Amino acid sequence: MSKVLNDLIESLKCLPGVGPKSATRMAYYLLQRDPNGAKNLANSILNSFKLLGKCKSCNNFCETTICDLCSDQSRDNSVLCIIEMPTDLLMFEQTHSYDGLYYILMGRLSPLDGIGPKELDMNSLYERCKDENIQEIIIATNFTKEGDATSTFITELVKDLNKKISRIARGMPSGSEIEYTDTGTLAQAISERKNIN
Ligand code: ZN
Repeated sequence: MSKVLNDLIESLKCLPGVGPKSATRMAYYLLQRDPNGAKNLANSILNSFKLLGKCKSCNNFCETTICDLCSDQSRDNSVLCIIEMPTDLLMFEQTHSYDGLYYILMGRLSPLDGIGPKELDMNSLYERCKDENIQEIIIATNFTKEGDATSTFITELVKDLNKKISRIARGMPSGSEIEYTDTGTLAQAISERKNIN
């Protein structure tokens, strides 16, 4: 096989859930069936790395120092909702039942995968929670083993700030992930959040 083609297949294997077989199929598809799509994909990936940074306030990807959501004056800056991934933010926004701010961890504590407090930059989270405007911290990590452990860790971490800490309600089944929960259940989970300190 051509080295260039082999490199393309190897590169595609970095996508989640893509093994050697699917990577090979994808590579042939891009080259044969959709060369324009492939060029757009390549350009978009390069552009994203060139132009996107992390919002200083919520940690989400954006092209400015502070993202649009964080600089939106109409949002309630006294509530901070801590979530695992940017996709969770999109889910909460779709519920239209939360108008506070967010902090995205970009993952969850998972010692088996080598992800500890340092990897998740818990210091930055602590600094963000210290903001004097923030009165309530809502922990909205997933109801999985790792999500619950992350929630417990954060509760301990921010305890000394003497702010209200809540966890979204367990309307969602145990083991469930926010990304796959329907907006109705999620809206209920945030409105029925429980104080945990
Ligand atoms: Zn932001």
